[in-house]
Amino acid sequence: MPIYEYECENCGKFDKLQKFSDEALKVCPTCGGKAERIISKNVGIVFKGSGWYATDSKVKDQVRSLNKERQKDNQALLDGDVSGYVKQAESTEKKISESI
Ligand SMILES: [Zn+2]
Repeated sequence: MPIYEYECENCGKFDKLQKFSDEALKVCPTCGGKAERIISKNVGIVFKGSGWYATDSKVKDQVRSLNKERQKDNQALLDGDVSGYVKQAESTEKKISESI
């Protein structure tokens, strides 16, 4: 299931795990205020092992460790640990942006 990011007019941003078939929330589950789904480029991106191509061994090591981080992301998601996933995914994004 993908995680969608919403923005509530009162509470600000929050994440919601939803099925593809679920309709977007229009009302904030916390305060009942107006909520809007925002498209996030960071959430839900999964790098498969074959998606990276590197010949340089230093880059290979880097890619290997980033893929390991990604596996942690996915494991948190499989465990249904949404806040853990978001936290882990954020740290992975940071590592990726620092290393590229
Ligand atoms: Zn709210």
